[in-house]
Order: sequence, then C-alpha cells, then structure tokens
Amino acid sequence: MASHLYSKRLLYYDGQAQSTRSRQTFRSIDPSTGSPIADIEAASQPDVDAAISSAESAFPSWSATPPTARSRILLRAVAILRERNNELAEIETRDTGKPFTETSTVDVVTGADVLEYYANLVASGGLNGETTQVRPDAWMYTTKTPLGVCAGIGAWNYPIQIALWKSAPCLAAGNCMVYKPSEFTPLHAQTLAEIYTEAGLPAGVFNVVNGAGDVGAYLAAHPGIAKVSFTGQVSTGQKVAASAAGGMKYVTMELGGKSPLLILPDADVDQAVDGAMMANFFSTGQVCTNGTRVFVPEQMLEAFEKTLLEKMQYVRLGDVMSEKTNFGPLVSKVHYDKVLGYIRHGIDVDGAKLLYGGPEKPELPEGSSVELKNGYWVKPTVFTSCNDSMRIAREEIFGPVMCVLPYATASPSYLDDLVARANDTPMGLAAGVFTSNLSDAHKVVARLQAGITWVNTWGESPAEMPVGGWKLSGLGVENGRRGLEAWVRDKSTLVEMGGSVASAFAKL
Ligand code: NDP
Repeated sequence: MASHLYSKRLLYYDGQAQSTRSRQTFRSIDPSTGSPIADIEAASQPDVDAAISSAESAFPSWSATPPTARSRILLRAVAILRERNNELAEIETRDTGKPFTETSTVDVVTGADVLEYYANLVASGGLNGETTQVRPDAWMYTTKTPLGVCAGIGAWNYPIQIALWKSAPCLAAGNCMVYKPSEFTPLHAQTLAEIYTEAGLPAGVFNVVNGAGDVGAYLAAHPGIAKVSFTGQVSTGQKVAASAAGGMKYVTMELGGKSPLLILPDADVDQAVDGAMMANFFSTGQVCTNGTRVFVPEQMLEAFEKTLLEKMQYVRLGDVMSEKTNFGPLVSKVHYDKVLGYIRHGIDVDGAKLLYGGPEKPELPEGSSVELKNGYWVKPTVFTSCNDSMRIAREEIFGPVMCVLPYATASPSYLDDLVARANDTPMGLAAGVFTSNLSDAHKVVARLQAGITWVNTWGESPAEMPVGGWKLSGLGVENGRRGLEAWVRDKSTLVEMGGSVASAFAKL
C-alpha cells in the first residue's frame, strides 16, 4: 500500500479512534497537486449507530456536569488548539488547498476563539434563565436544558473552524455531538476529537463519523439525534431540513449565498476595491458570505476597474506553504470543473465582459514544483458590465469569480432601485455597503435582506457576532449569545405559594 503524507484517519467514539465495520476507505487529496495524502475509513450504518449510542451513554453525566466544570475542560482544549496552531493549520492547508498564510491566521484561530467564547459564556451565567414574580404568592422561572445528542455536518471550505463553531456551543450547553466532516476535507476531525479527549472531555461527548452524503443523511435522520446543525449548499440543506422535520428535530442551517456589495458614489475607491477583492478572492472565493455581485456607480466604473486591475497583481498563486502565497487552488476536481463551467458560461452564454482572468490554466511562479501543475488552479476572474439576469450573477459559483454590476445615479430614486436589485435573489446570507456617509450606510443596511452585513469592510466574523442567513440561506444563527440558544430547550415553571389552587370548579 502506498504511504501517504498523513496516517489513516479513523472514526472516533467511546473516547478513542475506532476502525470501521464497513472496511471501506476513501482518499483525501491535496488540491494543490492532485495527489492523495491520506486514507480515510468510512462509516457504515452500524458505525453511526455505535457513535450515537456512545454519545447517548455520555449525555446524562455531561449534561449534569456544572457549566463551570464543562468550561474548564473546553478552555484546556482552547489552549491545546493554540499551542498546535501551525501543525493544525498545515493539515488544513494540505486538505483544502488554502494557503498557510490563511489557515495559520484564520481557521484554527477563529475556531479556538469561538470555543473560548462559549466556555466563558456558560461559566459566567450564559445558561441562566429568567425569574419573574407574577404576584406576591406566585413566581415563574425559566430554565434552559440541553437537547441531547446532536449531529454536526460540515462543508469543506473551513473544516476545523466549522467543527469548532458547531461543537463549541453544543458541548458548552451540555449536549453531546456526532460530527461528520465533508468527505473532501476530513483530516481535522479525528485530531480535534483527540484534542478534546486530551483536554479531559469524557468519552462519548464528541464523536466522529467519516463518509459522504449517505452517511450524513443516515445521521441526520437517525431517531437518536435531537438536533442537526448543518453547513453546506442550499439544495442539501433543504433535504436535511426536510428529513429532520419528520422527527420534529431542531435544526440550524448555514447555507449558501449570492451576496451583494454596494459601493455608493461617495465611497473611497481604494477601500471599495480592497473590500471587493476580499469579498471575492479570499479562500479562492470559497467563502459562503462572498460578495460576488459588486454594484459600482457608472461614474466610478473606470476608476474602480483601473484600481482593481492594479491590485489584481497582488493575488499570488504558488506553493501553498510559502509565506508569499495568498491564493490557493480550488478544493477538488469536481469543484474545479463546476467553477470553470461558470467562467465559460459567463463568456460564451451570458456574454459578460471579461476584465481579468478566464478559463485558461493560470501561470504558476517560476521554479514551482512539477506536482503543482496537476493541482486544481484557476485564475481569479472578474467579469464587468454584467446585468442581473446573467447566470453568473444569479447562481452561487463558490469560486473566485467577481461580477461587477454598474448602476446609474441620475434618478432621485436610484438608492431604492439599487437596494431592490441587491435584494433580488432567493438567498440572503450577507451584504455590505461602502460609503463615506454613515447615515446612508445605516439606511441602506436596514433595508438589505441579509443576516450578516458589513459597512466599509468585508468578511470579519468575530465570536461575539451571530451569523446566519435569511431566505434560502438558512435558519438560525451561529456564534454570539444568540448562538447558544440554538442548543438548549426552554422550560417555564410557575410556582403557586398561596396555599390554594385557583379553580373554576368550586362549589356554588
Ligand atoms: P454540500 O451541501 O455538498 O455538503 C455539505 C455536507 O453535507 C457534507 O458533509 C456532505 O457530505 C453532506 N451531505 C451531502 N448530502 C447529504 C444529505 N443528503 N444528508 C446529509 N448530509 C449530506 O456543501 P459543500 O460541502 O459543497 O459546501 C459548500 C456550500 O456550503 C456552499 O454552498 C457554501 O455557501 C456553503 N457554506 C455555508 C456557510 C454558512 O455559514 N452559511 C459556511 C460555509 C459553507 P460530503 O461532502 O462528504 O458528500
């Protein structure tokens, strides 16, 4: 058997790595070279049953553990994640193709931040309920109780971050989790489970099953699962939510988007271009909140395009571990084919004007290894003079493809028209405005149909900030105080102390 860069990844339950009963394996591929880097054991249905049963056994004790004690364990995991940041970031880089400059500063860091946030929140009363004196002889209190065994199903673009954004509030609230990573980026999952165990998490509280969509579907529909937290495409989310509805399970759905970025006429061009580039080329465009519809006032178009073309030179492809590289390949061959299909459609069918990039293979820096030439590299691409009916401006591409949409400002109602165009999509994940007029910024943001909005910036998502989509982009939020509520159910109790029961059935 060929030896790979990483050891074989197994399933994880009962506090340890477990071999699959199916004996089936699949491979993880380094997208920058197209070469296999690890074999992964895939879960069979009995394996998923075993992981759920391990979580069920752990739940009574973990849910009864005081929040401060749970918090101490989770904070130890935070410390380990930070100590091992670079090693974990390199695994993410090899698995996803994202440059190390990104994974070492964002992926593990923001995952650990959220774990720290929820550990601190539950230790400082974040799970407390309310108390109300209804009348002198009666009071009412509410309590928040954990849901039970929850499923976490992750996408491939931010693997360890997604695993942490799901498991952090889940475990802090006293639930147990069975987590399924994407089959394209599974390397982090067993390692994260081992870190939790090293930190003192009891066996069965965090478990991992690997595999493709069928494993996710079986997990989500399992009667032992109380809640499904899902990150992925709208179409998959619809299936998962439908299957969860049968069992009246709680769901959180973090789905796709086609987000608008509105540049108002008074915006600083330089800043607007920086924002538009972050909103399209960070993570090679594989970010759910990408602002791929960039609305630019006609009178600014020339200056915007000129500045953009100058700054496109700062997008640097190359060895994904190099400190110079800030743009990696796409995650997989299948995704590469999809994104190239959209770029070709933009040129051949939509008839959009190609300002930069295109479908040809990009040039890699001189001296790049031969292996890199086999990776799933695409050129960062900009279409300009687009209109709203083009397919590239309507559908989520999930790659580095920016659509510049010019707009006229002659009409007094131009802002209304602009907001209407921005909202003209079935999705509503994110939106942003660039302007030097703060009143306009707030007025426009208030009318944008999106769950996550930015003013004069794009993309930052700190632990304190709840994030979630409107319309087809999802249900519920992750992070922030509101994110914890998604992992508990409420109980209200009314206590009568007056010594008699108010009854409609007294003797006449
Ligand atoms: P997919 O919907 O293809 O897959 C997401 C996860 O669901 C994977 O683990 C997948 O398994 C699993 N899965 C597939 N079919 C089923 C099923 N029937 N039942 C249960 N699980 C299933 O999404 P991608 O992985 O392609 O991720 C990209 C998408 O994720 C984009 O649309 C992006 O916008 C969105 N996203 C949203 C975020 C948000 O916070 N709103 C954040 C990040 C991404 P497998 O892949 O192994 O087949």
